[in-house]
Amino acid sequence: MPEPLNASTPIEFLKGIGPKRAEALAEDLGIRTCGDLLFHLPFRYEDRTGFHRVSQAVPGPVQLQFRGTIRNIKEVQQKRGRRLEAEFVDEHGDTLSLVWFKGVQWVARNLPVGQPCVLWGRVSEYKGGVNMAHPEVLTMQEARSASALHPVYSSTERLGRFGLNSNGLAKAVQRLIGHLRKVHGEDWIPETLPPGILAMRGMPALAVALDHVHQPADVQAERLGRFRLKFEEFLFLQLLLVQHRNAQTQDLPGVAFTQVGDAFNRFYGERIPFELTGAQKRVIREIREDTRHGRHMNRLLQGDVGSGKTMVALLTALLAVDNGCQACIMAPTEILAQQHLASFRDMLGDLPIRVELLTGSVKTADRKPILEGLADGTVHLLVGTHAVLEPKVVFHRLGLVVIDEQHRFGVAQRARLWAKADIPPHVLVMTATPIPRTLSMTVYGDLDLSVIDELPPGRKPIRTVHRTDAQRLGVFGFMRDQIAEGRQVYVVYPLIEESAQLDHKDLMDGYESLTRHFPPTEYRISVVHGRMKPEDKDMEMQRFAQGVTQIMVATTVIEVGVNVPNASVMVIESATRFGLSQLHQLRGRVGRGANQSFCILMSDKELGKEARRRLETMVRTQDGFEIAEVDLELRGPGDLMGTQQSGVLDLKVADLIKDRVLLEDARDIARRILNEDPGLDGAGHALLKAGVERLRAERPDWSRIS
Ligand code: ADP
Ligand code: MG
Repeated sequence: MPEPLNASTPIEFLKGIGPKRAEALAEDLGIRTCGDLLFHLPFRYEDRTGFHRVSQAVPGPVQLQFRGTIRNIKEVQQKRGRRLEAEFVDEHGDTLSLVWFKGVQWVARNLPVGQPCVLWGRVSEYKGGVNMAHPEVLTMQEARSASALHPVYSSTERLGRFGLNSNGLAKAVQRLIGHLRKVHGEDWIPETLPPGILAMRGMPALAVALDHVHQPADVQAERLGRFRLKFEEFLFLQLLLVQHRNAQTQDLPGVAFTQVGDAFNRFYGERIPFELTGAQKRVIREIREDTRHGRHMNRLLQGDVGSGKTMVALLTALLAVDNGCQACIMAPTEILAQQHLASFRDMLGDLPIRVELLTGSVKTADRKPILEGLADGTVHLLVGTHAVLEPKVVFHRLGLVVIDEQHRFGVAQRARLWAKADIPPHVLVMTATPIPRTLSMTVYGDLDLSVIDELPPGRKPIRTVHRTDAQRLGVFGFMRDQIAEGRQVYVVYPLIEESAQLDHKDLMDGYESLTRHFPPTEYRISVVHGRMKPEDKDMEMQRFAQGVTQIMVATTVIEVGVNVPNASVMVIESATRFGLSQLHQLRGRVGRGANQSFCILMSDKELGKEARRRLETMVRTQDGFEIAEVDLELRGPGDLMGTQQSGVLDLKVADLIKDRVLLEDARDIARRILNEDPGLDGAGHALLKAGVERLRAERPDWSRIS
């Protein structure tokens, strides 16, 4: 048996654990070593500083603490098994009956009957009075040595049966710390941060921090201890990410776009019908700077719907053309690819730039000249879907790939693109999904980030209001006014994945009610829902787009891709059933023309706290990034990024949202350190290097992100 223990000793060798409990700990909580147990931190604390009086105890979920003695224990035979009863008398002479249904024999043997003790538990109503089932009982000595802030650990039912519920875990942790302290002294666990860093933020040593967190003397101590552990977690993560990014950008050569030539200049001078926004200009400069020096560009471009990302893509493509390269723009759907093709050809006009389309539905006969043109370099710009990844598609000299609206473009696909050129083409990933800065810093730590945070001028903000069902007649009246002015209106119903039936009913009920208020003699209404054939959907969309119908009643199928500038009102029914980003996307369907637009969020009068926050956020702001931050706060990051990336955010101590300020601090410090010492080879950085290596070993696949 490995004695003395250290952090890497398997947990089964800790006294009182053994192989069976060790197996359960590993399976249920991922605790394999003594070190893992030390980093299984309490998720909350119970304040046990004061004592209650039995006579004033209120039944309910709150745990109460009493001081007194236990007497009169007796076992009672029931139909099934036995029950243990006892009486507790507090310091004021009031009595409370206690009852146990489980572990009766063990409890009966171990209760400190007749001695002063401390009782902790929930009081319930029972036969006209109150009682307490399964209280936690501590002798006065045990109570004195326990901290006033009593740690609560997450556990499982199975572990509970092994005596490792929250309290059992607390005891195991204390046993472990006691053992380590006896062997190694006050520095019972090796320090992992250099003294300089600890001093920089006034942080305690690791041993002290863990002590503070597992058995805090007071709230301040607990905070200080946890602060250090969070900071450390962020610091190592950021060191790893920044280091990785530095390595990537240094090692990978890219095509150098050294010059700006005719294609770019003529387009810029003769063809752009508007002035670029400041944000667009800034992003172009960033891209230009990135690609000028022959290092590989890997850039994420974020910009809200309608912020003008396509123009940035086109200008970058022309830059590639000016440097003897071809460019390829990939869209997620056939329709989007076709739209891009049409708008590129339109914008380029008579400039000598050949643009072609390649999607799954392009016929073999039409493909031939395109493939030939790509191979001999006469096609400058290829727009397409995933079809462009096929091995048959061979480029003469591919210098740039733009990936539109797909931030989950996988590694395998990227590799296939890279195989199409001798030097990896520059990559620009564009997304309208506003990824909050806090998240992109961590998740996309190795991608450069550009942001278009400005909409083209002249767009009027959409007025957003919240109305309850009782105000519906007013809303209908407003819709009538807008239609009378020549505008069109969307009315959207939520789509519940599990219940297409119910959806359909909501939609049809809504439609019927609308036809009563907007009779067919005066108004024409389109209906689009998920159960319709694609052709029928398209036809209804077309009718609305052409202004034949004035009202579009739809489920969320209209979320993507509709562009009807004359539509000025978006009514969202049961708005609380939508997520924030969905509401934002839906609202983005209006406000595309010259008229003032409106978004009306309908709901019941009764609102939950979270639902209220969502609607309030929508009413308050139209800023996609702000909305995304709130969304992230409400839903948590896993949801936002999908499961693929959630592992990356699997932080042990820190919280990406609540601790974002700390995250940024850690990132700044990580950058500063790596600027001075990129390999962490300096004598003072040995601990940091070791920590980063540990993390790298723990997360072998983290580099796949992006
Ligand atoms: P997204 O970022 O959602 O892809 P688009 O690139 O489709 O947005 O641009 C939305 C609309 O705004 C297009 O019609 C485009 O021509 C127009 N646009 C882009 N940049 C500007 C600008 N600087 N000034 C005015 N209109 C612009
Ligand atoms: Mg776009």
